[in-house]
Amino acid sequence: MSFSALGLSGFFQHTLDELGYTAPTKVQEQAIPAVLEGRDVLAAAETGSGKTAAFVLPLLEKLRDHTRPHSHQVTALILVPTRELAVQVKQAVQEYSLDYPRRLKTLAVYGGVSINTQMQAMLAGCDVMVATPGRLLDLIEKNAIRLDQVEYLVLDEADRMLDLGFADELERIMNLLPAQRQNLLFSATFPQELDVLIDRLLFNPVCIEIERQNKLPDSLIQRPIEVDKAQRTTLLRYLLAENRGAQFLVFVASKRTAENVADKLYKYDFNVDTLHGDKPQTERNATLAAFKAGKIRVLVATDLAARGLDIPLLPFVVNYDLPRSPADYVHRIGRTARAGEAGTAFTFVDPDNDAHFKLIVKRNQLNVSLEQIAGFERTTISESTPAKGQLPVKGKRKSKKDKLREAAAR
Ligand code: AMP
Repeated sequence: MSFSALGLSGFFQHTLDELGYTAPTKVQEQAIPAVLEGRDVLAAAETGSGKTAAFVLPLLEKLRDHTRPHSHQVTALILVPTRELAVQVKQAVQEYSLDYPRRLKTLAVYGGVSINTQMQAMLAGCDVMVATPGRLLDLIEKNAIRLDQVEYLVLDEADRMLDLGFADELERIMNLLPAQRQNLLFSATFPQELDVLIDRLLFNPVCIEIERQNKLPDSLIQRPIEVDKAQRTTLLRYLLAENRGAQFLVFVASKRTAENVADKLYKYDFNVDTLHGDKPQTERNATLAAFKAGKIRVLVATDLAARGLDIPLLPFVVNYDLPRSPADYVHRIGRTARAGEAGTAFTFVDPDNDAHFKLIVKRNQLNVSLEQIAGFERTTISESTPAKGQLPVKGKRKSKKDKLREAAAR
């Protein structure tokens, strides 16, 4: 199946050939004709499936005959949950429009950077806007953007937008859109809370791959490793030494841990940097670009900052801390083994995390077994594991508060 056969103009084929896209991915095969037909689309697709091209390509095709919108107006609005994704989607739009027959104005608007530049840029109209909800509303309040002529609306990673608490912002944005428009909603998972949004947004949508849930590629090897909490950095160093020169994306639970782990690696001369929400956006963009260009070997990141990152040829992901939700586990390890490449995801499981890891395995129906690495075997047992012969009393498990009280009393 070729891209032209899906209804895209010939010049796209040239651009896509240059990019090395030999054939459309599954979600592209289904979404592109539906969008071209003018249908609303509901697609189950995660990062790595080729979802960005699945909505960007047909939108660009449709925008060919449009004239540039007037000052402050937007024709196609793509809403995304994070700044990083905004930048990435904007880059995709630019890449795919290399051979475009007319000049196309594409803007990414997101928080954490100066709002003035974004206001200036909107003095002329914008064909394709990629925006995070918060900053978009700020710009609307400042009269820099109007949404009453939006013809195409895309919600990318809709589940994540709700996770991040954007429900109110989305509602406000939808109230500003014209009734007549085409809507596309992409989401990796379909939690119940999404139903309201789906009902509110989509009219008789074409549903794509709804039954597929978080499928991981066969070329992705998962290696959960039992290790003591205090030994995790040493184990990470060991893995880095074992896989000389290879790039690693390391996930941690907090900004502080990110800095701590990076400091420790730095002391051992590793080329390392961090990606988390405390850093200015310009710095985050630069770090990400440097990592993608292979100039940084180890990137220690929090979930929010690393969500949706598309880093081709990333061979190793490490869950230094476990992700909070089973779905995040799949999102994280899905950063490696893209497009048929081999990849390995290490997950550090310390004694306190056994139960949480079991839940991640069960929910995602993973076929994995915990391993031990010689020299790093656990020597501690979990605080929550009852001593032998001493069963926990139901309903009497100590809460965190209880433990704190006990500690204070000591
Ligand atoms: P996405 O799911 O949109 O994050 O895309 C994941 C990666 O797949 C990106 O690096 C795209 O450039 C790439 N990609 C998208 N469509 C294709 C295709 N048809 N053939 C090869 N690579 C693709």
